[in-house]
Amino acid sequence: MIVNISLPDNTKYDITIDTLKKQYFDRKVVIVTNPTVSSLHLDYLKEKISAKELSVVTVPDGEQYKNMETIEAILEHCFEHKLNRNSLLIAFGGGVIGDMTGFAASIYQRGIDFIQVPTTLLSQVDASVGGKTGVNNKYGKNLIGAFHQPIAVNIDPHFLTTLPKREFGAGIAEIVKMAVTFNKDFFQWLEKNNLNDEKNIKTAIAKSVETKAWVVSQDEKERGLRAALNYGHTFGHVIENETNYNTYLHGEAVGIGMVMANELAKKIGYMSEGETLRVKHLLEKYDIPTSYKIEDVEDFYEHFFLDKKSLDNRIKFIVPKGIGDCEITDLISKENVIEVLKGFSN
Ligand code: NAD
Ligand code: MG
Repeated sequence: MIVNISLPDNTKYDITIDTLKKQYFDRKVVIVTNPTVSSLHLDYLKEKISAKELSVVTVPDGEQYKNMETIEAILEHCFEHKLNRNSLLIAFGGGVIGDMTGFAASIYQRGIDFIQVPTTLLSQVDASVGGKTGVNNKYGKNLIGAFHQPIAVNIDPHFLTTLPKREFGAGIAEIVKMAVTFNKDFFQWLEKNNLNDEKNIKTAIAKSVETKAWVVSQDEKERGLRAALNYGHTFGHVIENETNYNTYLHGEAVGIGMVMANELAKKIGYMSEGETLRVKHLLEKYDIPTSYKIEDVEDFYEHFFLDKKSLDNRIKFIVPKGIGDCEITDLISKENVIEVLKGFSN
């Protein structure tokens, strides 16, 4: 399956969802990966990819290493191997590797090509598509970065065979996100089909990628529509922050966040009780958490303002309108939000 992405500035690339094809690159290529992915799958990748000159740089595994120091290490490897402006980086790993490789590619000699070979479900359906790249610093997540589109995204579902179950669930949460915000038919399909099945997961990846590609082509720089992909994230980020990023995987926090956003949608008359339950049941089918105990409602509310996306001190909420449509709004009253949060405090 191939999904084409086409941006207003004429940037175009293919997102291929299939077993990796053998490819030869007549240029210097650096594979960027981490020890986990490398020990499981690097041999497989090396069987498929050959190049004029191929080397591998391995960086430590973990969100805590998604920083400028690791970027320096990647660049150092590129200089040592005398990469030029025609060289290519290949991101081989989850979203952390993808975001860092893309960012390194965007600044090495003012920008070189890179390819995404995402290996987690989350990175296959979300992070690898759309050209957001970057790292974290002490002020927050993804605050340093660039928009830099890959020249191709090669999604091989084979990698998912080694993915831990919780990581798989975290990816499903982002799939559910795309369906609830933009695609009712896809949501109904998700209700009927089991994503543990190989053929179904491939279809679900393609559908998600298609949705994300469409959104990005409308609004690459997130000035409007693309913000809808933050559905569940406004609440989710607070949950991640309150739990010191060590209790929930990002996708799991987003799962809970979607349940909270749906309660808000119900409160303002955008979603029926039945619709909120359908989303909850779909998440629960994959053991994605859907409940969270808020200790201090006011405190939780204040945390919204730490998010870089709450511009001008207004909180932007993504509220579904039924299933398959949504609204991006900063006009929800504090009163309504607090009432919803209270529902999670006992
Ligand atoms: P991750 O990259 O940390 O991967 C999760 C874990 O799975 C890691 O330990 C990784 O080494 C391991 N792993 C990777 N592939 C594996 C495999 N096939 N088998 C077994 N283990 C494997 O996390 P993630 O969930 O993939 O991505 C999260 C990151 O993506 C965050 O930093 C987030 O900011 C970013 N992100 C970016 C975008 C974007 O648009 N650029 C969108 C969503 C998320
Ligand atoms: Mg996310």
